Amino acid sequence: MQTLKTQELDIPVRYLKGVGPEKEKILKKLDILSLEDLFFWFPRRHENRQPLKSISQIEGLDKECVSAKIESRSMLRLGHGRLSVFKALLRDGRNTLFVVYYHQTYLAQVFKPGAYAVLYGKAEKKGRHFEMIHPEYEIFSGAALEKTAHHGRLVPVYPLTEDLTQKSLRQIIFDALENHRENIREFLPEKARRVLSLCDVSFALTQIHFPDNEASYQRAYNRLVFDEFFFLQLDIGLKRLQIRENNPEMVHGAPLSEVMKFTESLPFELTEGQRNAVRDILSDMQTSQPMNRLVQGDVGSGKTAVAAAALYYTVLSGFQGALMAPTEVLAQQLYLNLIRFLEPNGVRIGYLAQEASAQDKSRIYQELALGGLSVVVGTHALLEEKVKFKNLGLAVVDEQHKFGVLQRETLRKKSGKNSHFLLMTATPIPQTLAMTLYGDMDVSVVAGRPKGRGIVQTLWFQNQERRSVYSWCKKILEEGGQAFVVCPLVDAKTMRGVKSASQVYEEAQEFLSGFKIALLHGKMKSQEKSRVMRQFKEGSILALISTVVVEVGVDVPNARFMIIENAEKFGLAQLHQLRGRVGRGAGDSHCVLLSDAASQESVQRLESFVETESGFEIAEKDLVLRGAGDGQKQHGFLKFKIGDLAKDSEIMKKAKKAADALIEKDPQLAAPEHGLIKEKRQKRNQDRNSP
Ligand code: ADP
Ligand code: MG
Repeated sequence: MQTLKTQELDIPVRYLKGVGPEKEKILKKLDILSLEDLFFWFPRRHENRQPLKSISQIEGLDKECVSAKIESRSMLRLGHGRLSVFKALLRDGRNTLFVVYYHQTYLAQVFKPGAYAVLYGKAEKKGRHFEMIHPEYEIFSGAALEKTAHHGRLVPVYPLTEDLTQKSLRQIIFDALENHRENIREFLPEKARRVLSLCDVSFALTQIHFPDNEASYQRAYNRLVFDEFFFLQLDIGLKRLQIRENNPEMVHGAPLSEVMKFTESLPFELTEGQRNAVRDILSDMQTSQPMNRLVQGDVGSGKTAVAAAALYYTVLSGFQGALMAPTEVLAQQLYLNLIRFLEPNGVRIGYLAQEASAQDKSRIYQELALGGLSVVVGTHALLEEKVKFKNLGLAVVDEQHKFGVLQRETLRKKSGKNSHFLLMTATPIPQTLAMTLYGDMDVSVVAGRPKGRGIVQTLWFQNQERRSVYSWCKKILEEGGQAFVVCPLVDAKTMRGVKSASQVYEEAQEFLSGFKIALLHGKMKSQEKSRVMRQFKEGSILALISTVVVEVGVDVPNARFMIIENAEKFGLAQLHQLRGRVGRGAGDSHCVLLSDAASQESVQRLESFVETESGFEIAEKDLVLRGAGDGQKQHGFLKFKIGDLAKDSEIMKKAKKAADALIEKDPQLAAPEHGLIKEKRQKRNQDRNSP
């Protein structure tokens, strides 16, 4: 037999007790190939199979663990032998218990009179004695042990695959822990563990499977979640170092007073949140470490003005700036705003549309390369290879969650090196998620809303009330307000029971007769879209029937009414984005959901939306309602084996702090006491990158 290095966790499972070629194959289906995989195959839950009772102690209320001597057994065949019933009689003193199994004739060989059985199941009173049907069992030739892998303790219940029983997997893991616990190496220095009050990893792995009690399970859980989060935070922190590599050319030196003059020239006074964000950004840009900052602010908090100040500063300092947005509608709006804000200060701004003529495009390419344009605004078109800058100093991505990581990185590196980089988002991200997904970024929160905004009231109506909802809408238009009607689909074909934008448009022509309304959706030509948007902004179109193209960023302060058709089709975060389109002016606004939603999940979602105003609260609720998994999918990809972002935010904070401290002290992980951490990290990254 091959000698095993007792140090290692990568022993193949076939060398473990109880695993033959058959089991090896089955375990492989679960991706359990090594001792380590087995140790990290965490139970879904535990069953409390203690205390071990005698028959006289049976209560018969719930599942119980009972031990007694087998007295006799019998096999009955019913229905012309088609049904076999095995019965055993157990006794202690005057108390008796029957156990019954159907279709398991081999049990006659197992339940031998004189042996002892431990049973786990629910007992039912049948006349004068108790009966258990199909309990889990263990048989002992002498008196039963007080405690085994399967009873007399908190017993793990695992995720399984076909052909594998709880009992056999439990035994394999139990034996593996008994025999190879010493192979588990502690990689956190003793001192660090003490400071973080974490148990050692070998205790953790034992107790996560077979906990002595609730409290030690919790300690084990905390440790293992910590480990998982810690290595993630280590990756994030080290990436951050890389991005921040010194780049002396990036130092911005224009006097700040110029930017202050600019912000004072705006038609409004910046909110405190905006001022703070601008201050954070400018001081980043004055250093030689490229900025990597996320500006988070609820819809309507005024992020565009913040971006404008940053772009102005890059231009003042002799650089170019780029601003990328996810949709044409939004990009054009940003372009118009920047023109309004920056052109009076002598900044030349260009717009790069996906659909622009080749001629227009190449003119812009040329001007960017030569430096004639100081700022360019656009959609994904900015990412094209032909887009080259003379001297890009600042790249800004608006509504950044609409872009993939690669797209963001492409813009960041447009100048061939890391420029200053600013991401903006109105999708509030729960703190834990932010720490995880954007842990390599600094974050500025634009708190608060500009002064003088009315409130937005949210209501939910059933479809049968649509007529009155639309007449309310009509009344708002009569008063001089404007309205959005948002639908989940463009055409009817795709989903049953869902009104499409075109259907709603037809209907609205009747409901809102006498008023100019228009249809807007993503399949329209971009020229057409911008014409409609412009007319809506100017107020010649009063109601806009649209798909979610208006979801992000669109700013029309006079819009005071929003109807969301088939609201159940939208997620919480998306609903919140949509609602952010109203409430931007002085008067009060309304957001009306139309939905016949009946499923508990939808009702809960819509109700919590109606109740909640704050985007951050919405994001937290979203995380809880949909589970962290979904939230992560929405924000990027992350999968945890044991940790749960919704639940374990405190551990995440602790892990981040520990990882940051380690990187600060020893970024190369070169110190001997960090050797095992380094090794484990390398192994993790290898495993992740291999198919
Ligand atoms: P968002 O953060 O959602 O991107 P915008 O930048 O589109 O918000 O700003 C929303 C609206 O608020 C715009 O009309 C903008 O001109 C206006 N605005 C921005 N800052 C202020 C302010 N400090 N006071 C008043 N209005 C402001
Ligand atoms: Mg915006």
